[in-house]
Amino acid sequence: QYVVGIDLGGTKIAAALFDSKGEILGRERMETANARTAQEVVQRMIDMIRSVSEGYPLSGVGLASPGAVNSKEGIVLHGTNLPEWENVPLKKWMGEALGVDVQVVNDANAAAWGEYVRGAGKQSENMVYVTFSTGIGAGIVLDGKLLLGTTSFAGELGHNIIEPHGPECICGNKGCWEMYASGTAIRDSAVELMRGRTSAIAELAAARGEAVSAKHVFEASRQGDPVAAEVVERAVSYMAIGLANAVHTFNPDRIVIGGGVSKAGDMLFPVLRAQTEKHIMKPYLGTYDIVPADLRDDVGLIGAAALFHRA
Ligand code: ADP
Ligand code: ZN
Repeated sequence: QYVVGIDLGGTKIAAALFDSKGEILGRERMETANARTAQEVVQRMIDMIRSVSEGYPLSGVGLASPGAVNSKEGIVLHGTNLPEWENVPLKKWMGEALGVDVQVVNDANAAAWGEYVRGAGKQSENMVYVTFSTGIGAGIVLDGKLLLGTTSFAGELGHNIIEPHGPECICGNKGCWEMYASGTAIRDSAVELMRGRTSAIAELAAARGEAVSAKHVFEASRQGDPVAAEVVERAVSYMAIGLANAVHTFNPDRIVIGGGVSKAGDMLFPVLRAQTEKHIMKPYLGTYDIVPADLRDDVGLIGAAALFHRA
């Protein structure tokens, strides 16, 4: 069974052909910058799929899309980072053109499913996947099934409110988890705590001609910088609150952490585990582990293709 997985991003589209074992047989990649309408992008995706699967009998196409997706009908309702994407019937358009089944899921859900089937979630039954990136994305697998919910919006943990009087989020609410624990929040917190103090955070960024980001915070913390240590402690305490909420809500056996911030590795995971445990109710202690994601940049397309395996 040959399946194409597609990761539809705001700036690029990546596609790969998979065999039934999940091995990648070929890849295609293209920029979306100069394709204006959804129809244009869809036509290009159809061309990519034909080209990458040439000579193979194709049985399905799995698509990971940013933004709000109706997975039951395969419609992208509103594509964040995809201007003019409103109610785009991907399953219908692409299915008719290609004559195969097309499955569409939100990119965080695709990533969760990818980690569950092929990555750090293997051998787990109940898994929570969280990506700490520019924002926070999440996806939930319960009893071996990807949790979609009534309108397939399940898993927006980044917009759980953790501080009712906190700063305003793009979603319109105040104090969402991603306002405190995303890479962007870590950067903002660093800028705030560096005011009037010297810190290796700013020095590291300046030396490389880069704008200060969460990456520099963790690097400076590794070097023993006290401001960075403060920023990390604050960020991790907020990350832990959200993970503890997820433990109490879903009772997972595994929490898989992805996204750019997870690259902090041993500067992050031991403290994150310890801080999360502080908020965990007794019956849940020792029932889950917190591990880094496995799949990196390919997670979206791997997860999208894997929708056809153990769905
Ligand atoms: P995107 O949100 O575009 O998917 P990423 O998942 O790469 O991007 O997340 C970007 C965030 O990850 C930024 O806040 C960046 O500073 C942070 N980041 C990247 N590398 C590291 C690192 N080694 N350690 C900690 N944070 C990192
Ligand atoms: Zn929000």
